[in-house]
Amino acid sequence: MVRSFASPDSRGCLQRMTQRSGVLGTPVVVLTGAMEEREFFDERQEKKPATLNCPHCHQTAEYEVTWVVRTKKRQLSGRADDRDRARFAKARSYMVRKDDMMACKNMRCRKRFEISGQSTVITE
Ligand SMILES: [Zn+2]
Repeated sequence: MVRSFASPDSRGCLQRMTQRSGVLGTPVVVLTGAMEEREFFDERQEKKPATLNCPHCHQTAEYEVTWVVRTKKRQLSGRADDRDRARFAKARSYMVRKDDMMACKNMRCRKRFEISGQSTVITE
């Protein structure tokens, strides 16, 4: 499966990306000439308790769910241009749930189920 996001002015770069990502099986879009969003944030992983209900056996239990927490940096590095600074000004700290699936804790079930609810939360 190859998806193309190419526009006429950046086709060369995107074609290379498409070929490389085709090997990995995940299409990737890269914005050239701008700072990447992850450069705006300090990133760490945190486990947070969540009460989840298994849809197979309907048993409720406490699970440790992994989140990626991105905290906005105090300031940008020196190579930021005006556009980067404008994006940075609008950026807010947030966290993204890393786990999508959990294995049921009920020993008689133990099926995997999808975690419902919000997967991205603004934290400031
Ligand atoms: Zn279950």
